[in-house]
Amino acid sequence: PKKTALVTGASSGVGLWSAKALADRGWHVIMACRDLAKAESAAREAGIAPANRTLLHVDLADFASVRALAEAARETVRAGGGALDALVLNAAVYLPRAEAPQRNADGYEISVATNYLGHFLLANLLLPDLEAAPAPRLVTLGTVTANSEEFGGKIPIPAPADLGDLEGLEAGFRDPVAMIDGKPFKPGKAYKDSKLALMIMSRELHARFHDKTGIIFATLYPGCVADTPLFRHAPKAFQTIFPWFQKNITKGYVSQPLSGERVAQVVADPDFTRSGVHWSWGNRQKPGAQAFAQPLSSKAENAHRAARLWDLSAKLVGLE
Ligand code: NDP
Repeated sequence: PKKTALVTGASSGVGLWSAKALADRGWHVIMACRDLAKAESAAREAGIAPANRTLLHVDLADFASVRALAEAARETVRAGGGALDALVLNAAVYLPRAEAPQRNADGYEISVATNYLGHFLLANLLLPDLEAAPAPRLVTLGTVTANSEEFGGKIPIPAPADLGDLEGLEAGFRDPVAMIDGKPFKPGKAYKDSKLALMIMSRELHARFHDKTGIIFATLYPGCVADTPLFRHAPKAFQTIFPWFQKNITKGYVSQPLSGERVAQVVADPDFTRSGVHWSWGNRQKPGAQAFAQPLSSKAENAHRAARLWDLSAKLVGLE
């Protein structure tokens, strides 16, 4: 049987083009999306043949829906006679102009619930399935703005990612709490925090499960994919200027197909079998650039806090 990967948020941008690059490598892709009609037409437009894909529904902010996805994915893999060879945690929302926090049904702030907590639950539910595959990988989309080792991670607008001492999670993460660190709501920072939490989670998965299961855990920053719909809630002028700025000034711009190709490399290629690392192609894009394993900021490397983040997250998603 073909190798199978599940990609969340495959109806658009990086996730869609990752699915395309994996299908082109001969993989079967489970495209886990919140809008199946949109996913179907995106897959068709990108040229992912129906035989190479299965579309499954998920709303990552809804933990019952995440549980249903895990079941449906298991069933899809069983029916195909293969294994779940890779899980790609990609879906995300970015709501930089939200004036007040939006919340999911559990009352948790929506960008942390979608980007981080939903993926934390999904990863935990699918670990046994990955473990059963011959050479499984769990790949998570990180971002430069959550890594203060990179230039992009030092830009203080609106504020750098910072999980504090997890005071907000500790307090239950419900109204009036809206931030992981328990401080006043900053929508752009909520996104950055969710990505930093994911990068810490990937390291923690590695520490807890790599030796036991053989699963390869990695995060990556594919470059600045400045023209995906991720930025649709940003001001219109920003949506014009940002891609131009990234192309011409920072030289960080990466096309959507190239970003998908990079994700597929980390998922499928033999050069990417190191676990517990963060892959980057650098900030300034040069033709033929090679990936390198990049150190993370000290904010992502505190083992004690990583363990506490794990325990608090497990409680919030109802895993214990
Ligand atoms: P897009 O907005 O193009 O894609 C986001 C995807 O997530 C869409 O498929 C979207 O679905 C899906 N999604 C959003 N909310 C939910 C939900 N509640 N349940 C299920 N799916 C959901 O953004 P990008 O492709 O740019 O971003 C993808 C990943 O890449 C993110 O993790 C982002 O942090 C990361 N990244 C992006 C960079 C960039 O420059 N663009 C740089 C570095 C990392 P729908 O189509 O229905 O909206």
